[in-house]
Amino acid sequence: MAACPAQALGSEQTWLEAAQAFIQETLCPAGEEPDVRLTQQVIDCVKTTWLTQGGNQGFTLPLSYRFVSVRDLRSHQRPPCCSHLSWSSTEYQAWAQEAGLSGLPLPREQLLLLGTLTDLLEDLEQECRNGSLYVRDNTGVLDCELIDLDLSWLGHLFLFPSWSYLPPARWNCSGRGHLELWSVPVPVFPLAGSPGPPSPLSVLYPEAACRLLGHSSKPRVVHPNLAGKLVRLSALVKSQKKAYFVLSLCEPSPAGSHAGSHVSIIVQVPAQLVWHRALQPGRAYVLTKLRVSRIAGYHYRVWTTGPSSQLLPLKPECVRELDLGLELGGPLLEADPKPLPRTSNVPDRKDQKGLVRDSRLLSYQGTVTGVLNQPAGIYELDGQLGLCLSYQQFQGLRRVMRPGVRLELQDVHLLQSVGGGATRPMLAPCLRGAVLLRGFSPRKPETQSSLQALGASLYEQLIWEQQLGLPLYLWATKALEELARKLCPHVLRHRHLLQHSSPGNPSLGLQLLAPALDVLAPPRIPSRDAQREILEEPHRCPLQKYTRLQTPCSFPTLATLTEEGQGRAWASFDPKTLLPFPEVSHLTSCQLNQRLAWSWLCVLPSTFRPAQVLLGVLVASSRKGHLQLRDQSGSVPCLLLNEPSRPLSDPRLIGCLVRAERFQVVVERRVRSNFPSWKELSIAGFIQKQWARVSVQFFLADALVLSVPRPFLHPGTPSTPARTEPALPNAPSLGQSRLFLLSHKEALMKRNFCVPPGASPKVPKPTLSFCITASWLGGTQRKEGTGWGPAELRGDENLEQKVLLIFLGSSIRWFEFLHPGQVYRLVAPGPPTPMLFEKSGSSCISQRPLELAGCTSCLTVQDEWTLELESSQDIPDVPRVNKALSESSLTDLLSDNFTDSLVSFSAEILSRTLCEPLPVPVWTKPGSSGARRGCVKVTVALETSDREFPPHLDIYIEDPHLPPPLGLLPGARVYFNQLEKRVSRSHNVYCSFRSSTYVQVLSFPPETRVSDPLPHIYLAGLLRAGRAPFRAMASCHIVSVFSLQILWVCAHCTSLFIQGRCTHLGSTCPTQTPVSQANIRLLVEDGTAEAVVTCRNHHVAEALGLCPSEWTSLLEFVRGPGKVALQFMGPGAQPESSAKAEPLTRFLRTLCTSVSVLRPVVLSFECEKKPSKISPSEPPRLQRFQCGELPLLTRVNPRIQLLCLSIQELKHSGSLGASASAC
Ligand SMILES: [Zn+2]
Ligand SMILES: [Zn+2]
Repeated sequence: MAACPAQALGSEQTWLEAAQAFIQETLCPAGEEPDVRLTQQVIDCVKTTWLTQGGNQGFTLPLSYRFVSVRDLRSHQRPPCCSHLSWSSTEYQAWAQEAGLSGLPLPREQLLLLGTLTDLLEDLEQECRNGSLYVRDNTGVLDCELIDLDLSWLGHLFLFPSWSYLPPARWNCSGRGHLELWSVPVPVFPLAGSPGPPSPLSVLYPEAACRLLGHSSKPRVVHPNLAGKLVRLSALVKSQKKAYFVLSLCEPSPAGSHAGSHVSIIVQVPAQLVWHRALQPGRAYVLTKLRVSRIAGYHYRVWTTGPSSQLLPLKPECVRELDLGLELGGPLLEADPKPLPRTSNVPDRKDQKGLVRDSRLLSYQGTVTGVLNQPAGIYELDGQLGLCLSYQQFQGLRRVMRPGVRLELQDVHLLQSVGGGATRPMLAPCLRGAVLLRGFSPRKPETQSSLQALGASLYEQLIWEQQLGLPLYLWATKALEELARKLCPHVLRHRHLLQHSSPGNPSLGLQLLAPALDVLAPPRIPSRDAQREILEEPHRCPLQKYTRLQTPCSFPTLATLTEEGQGRAWASFDPKTLLPFPEVSHLTSCQLNQRLAWSWLCVLPSTFRPAQVLLGVLVASSRKGHLQLRDQSGSVPCLLLNEPSRPLSDPRLIGCLVRAERFQVVVERRVRSNFPSWKELSIAGFIQKQWARVSVQFFLADALVLSVPRPFLHPGTPSTPARTEPALPNAPSLGQSRLFLLSHKEALMKRNFCVPPGASPKVPKPTLSFCITASWLGGTQRKEGTGWGPAELRGDENLEQKVLLIFLGSSIRWFEFLHPGQVYRLVAPGPPTPMLFEKSGSSCISQRPLELAGCTSCLTVQDEWTLELESSQDIPDVPRVNKALSESSLTDLLSDNFTDSLVSFSAEILSRTLCEPLPVPVWTKPGSSGARRGCVKVTVALETSDREFPPHLDIYIEDPHLPPPLGLLPGARVYFNQLEKRVSRSHNVYCSFRSSTYVQVLSFPPETRVSDPLPHIYLAGLLRAGRAPFRAMASCHIVSVFSLQILWVCAHCTSLFIQGRCTHLGSTCPTQTPVSQANIRLLVEDGTAEAVVTCRNHHVAEALGLCPSEWTSLLEFVRGPGKVALQFMGPGAQPESSAKAEPLTRFLRTLCTSVSVLRPVVLSFECEKKPSKISPSEPPRLQRFQCGELPLLTRVNPRIQLLCLSIQELKHSGSLGASASAC
């Protein structure tokens, strides 16, 4: 720097003036005359320090530096900074480079800091001392940290040549920054050495001190001095009552330092707490004027310091050993303190599952390389070890901790493979060991997110109140991080999740962890006793013993859960498993693809490792009407029941946080495929599109429901709650309401409503909506304070006022909460409008349906209106509603009687398939298949109390009821209300959804399904009115064969396939793949009745008693002609054209009349017709027989028609049926 000397002289003058003014203001005792000597001393001190560094470039004064007061640092220094007067730029650069390896170095400022080093926060109070260290000037006081304190520095004025200042971090609620003093401070005035005690000092060494303690009588040595080498330093323990630490001295000479001979000294005088910063393990000290005292609750005595005790370095030449034998004046009673009685109130946890391990106590020096969780006190050391400081009170150290800090850990526990997701070995000091700062970090602290800053007091609570061991604590901190990522900040504020838990204000985080912690945390063990933890041998502390933790559970985001569910659904999707052989080999292309089109998978939490916990906020979708669980990652549709058969009806659940360990993830797979035939099933290319719908379902009784504080809305923001998700208003101060009793709810579907006059003239589109019919209970009530005023009387209260309430737009969010038989309050917030609930809505629903429903009025529920559930017991004039679900009688249900075509029943779903839409038009033009949405067929078993075997029924769900509501899954129990009953051409009763249908899932599919074996019955049992099973098995005899047909059809168009060609006209079929189909009709009897059994496809092989290879050869023979069809006249009848018959026909004819087919079998079957026809409506007929000359007239039961499910050979049936076992 080439500054001209005159200029430099001028700036020196300015600098000196500024310095004088500064010193006068900040360092001179307030209100006194300018202290010239002090000013000169300070400037000299600065000058000397400045000149010692190499980079002063010939300037005698650090002109580029300015003085800074404590107040200026505190109030103006926002970013952290450092200042190194004694460092050259090269030194700083080398230092910064070291920091810059993995972060930013602290920015350098050119500041001169002076102040008095003290352990007093306030000027006067002795009791204020708690071992902390401060730098003070006239303008204020700053916390500081120092590596190696010399006690003689306290109370003196220093220039700090090298320091950094860190403003308070976000987690730091004290709001005070702190100084890190890098190098030895330079005293402004030379430090006068303290006079010290007269030498030689008579001292006791540890062994003698121990013996003295053990002596029962009061020692005659008054306040002896103890000398020895520092071997152990405990943590500084601060409780509400007092603060203290314990140090242990051993014999200073190597010869005498065997393990047992050390003595512990408690330091608890406030003014001596600062010793904790000065003591260095390994050095030798003398502590003067010690006393013996007894600790409350202990049987033994310890050395403690007195108010006038001093800590001095041990200089062997200045001490002489006290002759103990002489002083005691007699023989020692006991050489050693009594062994401590083992405490027995701590439960022995050896019987816990898993191996209990012992941690190792060791000392370690290392550098912090990462901050893993600042509030939880978890760091990374040397890139490979974990460090958890939370088992100590480490508030002072916490602010210093960042990558680059060097630490020495004395008597720290090493825990290896703690489990619970922690991968590295952990070091954790308990109160017995000290964490000593060995070096500050040159790195600038990183800005912290809320997650990195909040929650320290909650984590402390986990350790000090919940008393978690380290493995569980590590898991809990991970789980809380996981929860915060899942929920904060949009669903929940960090401070709500991580706040300190108090009785009236529990922490949500702790509540969410509680179910897992309750199982794993030890039962209430006595709280930590710091003195025992430090002094007692053998050592006991929460870190001493540990058990490897199996990760109890995790809280995946809903997006992860959905992904995982989909992943599993597609990983397990295998067309060959869904369509097992040999059944699949007879399916046409169309049947095949339809069977693959819908399938589902239920994923249970127990199949995850670790178990997954479902967690989210319950939201009612105003777009789709269903319930959702939501977190930051997204939402998942959910189906909730309070408990089996009890639907959800309280809208207050909206917005609550729901935590469930028992739940089902339901993945519905939709596949669009064009497999030409079963042979190509393994070729994935035939799958054109696949998509999955993931939902969850669970009982609220199994879940933890927590109300969540409403998100704080900034008053200035103009954004109103989005129309799609109106927030629940917090108890509006104005409003009116009216009670109603719900009598019927209709389906949620797209309906046409007229546009109210004045609304947008767009062509009305069908809107997702639903209606309920209800009865008003009393009149409108106005808001009065927090409750509701008396009902307005209008004179027509005695009439039953039925109303049709229409929910469209965002009010469809109430759909899941409305159920017949419940009383609700409809609340309209805002200033009361007369006749609000009385006037008919503008929804222009035509008058006719209203009349049909018997309603006098119709009202559209506005978006901002809300619903509340009322307990009907509280309302005096509620008509006693029958809350039981109305059910149609079985006779009504199954008869052809159509006086009421609307039926209601509860049933268990047996199967669900996609099929062609009803009614029949199967053939659609090619290319229009996209528009055809098909139809869902659900087969149910009716729940009947009076029947042994429940009748089966098919329910068809078509547009606009597609996709079906959540929960219609095989195994689920469902209540259907107002289904439309129809009868097919073959007189089968079936049902279909209509707009007034109300569906309520009663229970979810059981987690494990065991299929009951079919009942074994006599065929005559099927004739008993209404008491026959739909599926059963019977041991019977095949009497005769009526007909047999085997053919090959085109897999694409089902036309006959002859000579390797499809016979469809024009034959434009894209693939020429034939599939075989077969069908046989048999007469069986079991001695009680006869039945005609139809067997199809591979069951024909079973009926004919052919083994797979024989069946395959037979099918190959048919391939040539394409079709074989045989009719049999009855037992013993002759074929009409046997002469002309083909060999194949002749063979089949012979086979079907031989004992290979006509044999005893075990037949599993289902009734060919669904219940209506088998009912006794068809009485036994009179039939005429000719017996020789005699005509006979006899009653004959109608023939039972059965469909074969399987045919098995009768066991131990001798020679019959041998052909089946021959191959
Ligand atoms: Zn310990
Ligand atoms: Zn064809």
